[in-house]
Amino acid sequence: MPAAEAVLTIPDFCLVLLVGASGAGKSTFAARHFRPTEVVSSDACRGLVSDDEADQSASAAAFELLHLITEKRLAARRLTVIDATNLKVRGRRPLLDLARRFHAPVVALVLLLDPATCIARNRHRAAGGGRHVGREVIAAQSKSLRDGLPALRDAGLAAVHVLDTPGFIDAIKAIRRVSPPPLHPTRS
Ligand code: GDP
Ligand code: MG
Repeated sequence: MPAAEAVLTIPDFCLVLLVGASGAGKSTFAARHFRPTEVVSSDACRGLVSDDEADQSASAAAFELLHLITEKRLAARRLTVIDATNLKVRGRRPLLDLARRFHAPVVALVLLLDPATCIARNRHRAAGGGRHVGREVIAAQSKSLRDGLPALRDAGLAAVHVLDTPGFIDAIKAIRRVSPPPLHPTRS
């Protein structure tokens, strides 16, 4: 990757959607580049409502909570990062609706790793006592992500950055936040 791309630029107020299969490294990436309070994680919300981050039966309540936190943060014009798979149009829609309501640009950071890497990383995470997601689920998520990329690119987001190799993800040394230019520039 060219050195110039080692810094990713995003608006200083925006909704960041991390997009990727389980094990792609979303939570790791979020922890590396964003403040803990900026990251709203579906797993953490599952944990908050059910004491179990892996409890899929808690998903409906967890996403209600995730949407509520996102709404409050965007209302306060705080940059917000959604750490969830964000693979499906249906799952992204309420988040895009919130972003539109609060005039927040949306930036997707797509961690498009091959399924074998995601599966291996899941195994590694589980060996360390973390969450384990089965290989069939990850294979389906990876297919869903690849099939859904054109729709994501066509969704009218401010930017869709596709990070498609571990080397590419590691090469991002910083995320620079910039103020967007004013809509109505004043004459000088
Ligand atoms: P998520 O399911 O997308 O949130 O993935 P995680 O961030 O939990 O990462 C899954 C596993 O892969 C964890 O055990 C991480 O430590 C590991 N992992 C994440 N990013 C990297 C990376 O860049 N390199 C390596 N070798 N492992 C990573
Ligand atoms: Mg995670």
